[in-house]
Amino acid sequence: MTQLVKSNAELRSAMTGLANNICLVPTMGALHEGHAQLIKVGKQKVGNNGCVVVSDFVNPKQFGKNEDFEKYPRDLEKDLKVAHSAGAHILWAPSVEDVYPGQWPLDEIEDKRFEILEGKSRPGHFAAVVEVVTRLFNIVQPRFAAFGEKDFQQLVFIKDMAKKRNPVVEVLSVPTVREKDGLAMSSRNVYLSSDQRKVAHLIPESIRNATLLASKGKSQSQVIGEVESYLKQSDLIELDYVEILNNDLEKLKINEVGRILIAVKLGNTRLIDNMPIKFKAAS
Ligand code: AMP
Repeated sequence: MTQLVKSNAELRSAMTGLANNICLVPTMGALHEGHAQLIKVGKQKVGNNGCVVVSDFVNPKQFGKNEDFEKYPRDLEKDLKVAHSAGAHILWAPSVEDVYPGQWPLDEIEDKRFEILEGKSRPGHFAAVVEVVTRLFNIVQPRFAAFGEKDFQQLVFIKDMAKKRNPVVEVLSVPTVREKDGLAMSSRNVYLSSDQRKVAHLIPESIRNATLLASKGKSQSQVIGEVESYLKQSDLIELDYVEILNNDLEKLKINEVGRILIAVKLGNTRLIDNMPIKFKAAS
């Protein structure tokens, strides 16, 4: 049975006596099959004597003023069920005071890449994500931490942060879990109206199609153009960005495997997705 704990003190007592073989799965709750997959990967990594701790914390600091902090879906009872059926040992739902007990004693990590892609429309978001995950790592002291490729840009920064600040933590990256029609699972999918949900499959299709065209010899700019025109099939979808970068979020070099990353708006709902991409080598 997954144990629900709230304060840091409760967490510490739940972890007492456990071998130092913990995988942390940081989430903002509203758990779905994507989160369940992170738990399962973590469980496999720690083995029978280890422990998977899922944090369930909607971090106010990483939301901008006009973002959805207030209406972000929260359902601790359902989260407990999902965490339990995926095999988590502890679901930790701390308060803001538990996570932010005092002044931030560390030097801020600065990174120009905080301002690209998601960072363009979400200023301060990644600095806040890196801070909160550092704080979660410091409280839980895990050996492993599982993150989804769904938030690829975030994953890159978390790996860098762990190397710098918590080198004992091995960051596990978990491929994106999708709905039957290909839409990446996301806690924000519940915001979609039925009309918006019906056309949302165009998002993963547009980038999957792009990966095929790349493998057949189309150039980066041709591929980007194809994504733009593919999405024009629905006037409910507004493209924010589609970019192709390498796995360090820098310019893709010839013969490198990279990522195609996309963000769109359907009404007020912002959705992101990404896939690996490799261009056919020039002959
Ligand atoms: P969130 O609760 O949305 O902040 O996500 C918590 C963690 O779950 C992050 O590491 C996400 O990348 C990961 N995640 C969210 N959706 C998916 C998905 N569809 N597939 C895999 N991982 C996911």
